[in-house]
Amino acid sequence: MKAVRNQGKSILEKDQENVWHHISKYNDKSHPLIAKEAKGSWIIDYQGNKYLDGMSGLWCVNVGYGREVLAKAAYEQMNQMAYMSMTQSHIPGIELADKLNELLDDDYMFFYSNSGSDANEVAFKIARQYHEQKGDTSRYKIISRYRAYHGSSMGALSATGQPLRKYKFEPLTAGFLHVAPPDNYRKPDHLSIEEYNLQQAKAIEDTIIWEQEETIAAVIMEPIITGGGILIPDPVYVKAVQDICRRHGVLLIIDEVICGFGRTGRMFGHMNYDIKPDIITMAKGLTSAYLPLSVTAVRKDIYEVFTNESADNYFRHVNTFGGNPAACAVALKNIEIMEEENLTSQSAVLGEHLKNELQELNNHSYVGDIRGIGLLLGIELVEDKTSKQPAKPERVAKIIKECKDHGLIIGKNGDTVAGFNNIITLCPPLSITDDELEFMI
Ligand code: PLP
Repeated sequence: MKAVRNQGKSILEKDQENVWHHISKYNDKSHPLIAKEAKGSWIIDYQGNKYLDGMSGLWCVNVGYGREVLAKAAYEQMNQMAYMSMTQSHIPGIELADKLNELLDDDYMFFYSNSGSDANEVAFKIARQYHEQKGDTSRYKIISRYRAYHGSSMGALSATGQPLRKYKFEPLTAGFLHVAPPDNYRKPDHLSIEEYNLQQAKAIEDTIIWEQEETIAAVIMEPIITGGGILIPDPVYVKAVQDICRRHGVLLIIDEVICGFGRTGRMFGHMNYDIKPDIITMAKGLTSAYLPLSVTAVRKDIYEVFTNESADNYFRHVNTFGGNPAACAVALKNIEIMEEENLTSQSAVLGEHLKNELQELNNHSYVGDIRGIGLLLGIELVEDKTSKQPAKPERVAKIIKECKDHGLIIGKNGDTVAGFNNIITLCPPLSITDDELEFMI
């Protein structure tokens, strides 16, 4: 008789022997959270311990866990038709695109993929092919910002501005340039916020000019840098970047992978600013992570450059799973939940409350800055409030551990030049209750 593999081993031992965790250090022997179930804002592990998920998974479970209607939407769609590729079309995919246009103001075409990285890869390819087909054959470079994260695949990682995530894999894709984003907490004292933000926007224009405008295809940015440490720009910055892009014939790609779907108190993060992006990428909150799905939204006049039938102008990109019908059905239901429960305005109201309540922490010697927009908050920890030297990793790790020991999951992000993740991040489900928010505070 065949021996039963790993008989008698604990689930923890099996995990350690078989499962390669993402972006985790194996020299720290910290006990991973082995999750068994999740409801609302809470995750329960295999030993019955309960944790409030202050990060919505990886910034994605916007409507909270355990929504039966989402499971039902997937179940019903899988029963009716489990698969259809997007080389053709299907009803949930069409209905979802129509709904997204309603949310965005009716001006886009939608290309489906599976992840945020995919959606950004598609955006880069569309930007390059768009210029090529318009006769601007040398426009291939993409400008992004230091500190931003845009994904893990080679192109999306090339756009990412966090050296620690990249250096082991270099050289990456050619043609990606980076400039510093505004970091208002660290702005020079002699400049006003507006002056400083305009100066940071000008860095993008300078790069376009120095690199020669006719080589630049696109600028990609998140409306608010999330994984790089919750960097909220002044409105003048975002508007100025759009104006610069338009002035130089450069496409503006807005990465809404985290900021989208109510996270910042608006349906999309860019709606906090007075802009109309050329291309928008979305993932995570699109389905609240119940199933994988992402979208690259492309303004119709850009799309038209791909539709000239006399030429060989179609977009040369396909993926097998993108726009899976069940994932589209879940996304539609997820948006319906958000609308019925007013989760976007709840995000704005609760986020403001959370930010105000946390201000008390400013009295603490290691707390340098507390900032946020909607239910997307950062607490920047420093060794010293005057020098703003980032807090040591062990100090940040201790806080994360203390919170976990008390049943609260929070994040740490940043990836500054010094390589510190010194910003505590809070990004709970938008459906979080008042009591849960008090627990978090
Ligand atoms: N863009 C942003 C802003 C992200 O935060 C992420 C992931 O965290 C991505 C893109 C990549 O998304 P995915 O992990 O689904 O590939």
